[in-house]
Amino acid sequence: MMKARSILLAIAVASASPAFAAVSEGDVIVRHATIVDVEHARTIADQAVVLRGGDIAAVGSDADIARTWRAKRTVDGSKRFLAPGLWDMHVHFGGGPELIEENQALLPLYVAHGITSIRDCSGDLPEQVLAWRDQIAAGTLSGPQLFTSGAKLEGIKPVWKGTIEVGSEADVDAAIQRLRKDRVDFMKITDSTLDPQLFLYALTKAKAAGLRSSGHIPMALTVEQAVDAGISSIEHIDYAFKAGVRDEAAIAADFAAGRIDRAEANRRIDQGFDEATAMTAYRGFAERGVYVTPTLNGSRILAYLDRDMHADDAYLAYIGPKLRKTYDWRIERASKASPEAIAARHAHFERMAAVLPMLQRAGVTIIAGTDAGFLNSFNYPGIGLHDELKLFVEKGMTPTQAFSAATRAGPAWFGKLDRYGSVAVGKAADLVLLERDPLQDIDATRAIDAVILRGRVYDRKALDGMLDTTRKKVAAWNAAAAR
Ligand SMILES: [Zn+2]
Repeated sequence: MMKARSILLAIAVASASPAFAAVSEGDVIVRHATIVDVEHARTIADQAVVLRGGDIAAVGSDADIARTWRAKRTVDGSKRFLAPGLWDMHVHFGGGPELIEENQALLPLYVAHGITSIRDCSGDLPEQVLAWRDQIAAGTLSGPQLFTSGAKLEGIKPVWKGTIEVGSEADVDAAIQRLRKDRVDFMKITDSTLDPQLFLYALTKAKAAGLRSSGHIPMALTVEQAVDAGISSIEHIDYAFKAGVRDEAAIAADFAAGRIDRAEANRRIDQGFDEATAMTAYRGFAERGVYVTPTLNGSRILAYLDRDMHADDAYLAYIGPKLRKTYDWRIERASKASPEAIAARHAHFERMAAVLPMLQRAGVTIIAGTDAGFLNSFNYPGIGLHDELKLFVEKGMTPTQAFSAATRAGPAWFGKLDRYGSVAVGKAADLVLLERDPLQDIDATRAIDAVILRGRVYDRKALDGMLDTTRKKVAAWNAAAAR
């Protein structure tokens, strides 16, 4: 009894004395890493980062942290760059109920490529994706953090499946109520048959309901009208290009009145771009906090389907046979194109992509998103984001700007920079450990040594195992399909 008391006394004295700092306990400590501080475009050498549960518990110089922290697992970060996990802010799941399993098998592909969060921009499996979101958050399904729009809003009898069809203001009100009940993370809205005025009404109502919105903007409207109504992000760079067309309002009015068809409207848009008009529009986006997700990689793949033979892509080994089948319609369409149409498609892509640096210069937040998933041929979940970032740099962004588009723009759009986008105390332990500095060379995002997801470390071996499991799964599906 006496002995126990004197030991307790000794401990109390030791921790009170400045010579013995108290040692805290973490789960993982990454030592001697160079931290990538994306916000300030700098790196900080020889740091240690302590993870506890799903949080970053401590960050500091390696010597300081090593003195005051212990952890169950140590990860050697020397000659490595520790950065926030990547976000792919435009993906899709779908293809019908018989493709649920193949879609679910895409989740580890994101993680294996350093992607710790994805934003699903709606497909035709909204209930399934909502369920995955909740299971991932609860830890019962492994995968990147998932944000989803749930079902998208559309007009009556649209070309897209998995929609909430709205034909009146009352329908829109009911749709927004359903989205809130589904606890969707934002509203996606497309325009294949949606009345343009209802489109604007839905944006206004979503904003009033505290829902962020993103989508395709009807030809009968100007992009500015969608911005005025409160759209939060513009998907696909084509709409940003359209906002830079000098007589956009006249084209929209002619189309709305039925004086011109879609092809003629597109022809006038393609020829009507004006840099001064564009810069004014883009500064407007920046001022109002409207972000742009260019999805360049998707456009590039479609534009160059004639030139790039994807049939032998090694990555097809990770994509299930039914998902691969959804690629066919675009391939068939491309194969029927005339040489003139092919040349026009190439020119169109280059013209669209050329506005990227203008958006950046105007201060618009650019979001990295791939459009990967079903239907979008050869736009691969996982690796596609790295291709998107490479294109960002090829088209004029700096590696730091591109890397920020994949690590900070997503959290910023969701209002979650307090939790994501930097390696700092209190942030989520969603991180990537890279072999090289992504702020110097954007291709460094591909050199992944480890991924940390909600505090759990997946080293290179574990990531390769994840890929291998998916490859085997797909091989078994292929074999079954061939029987
Ligand atoms: Zn999309």
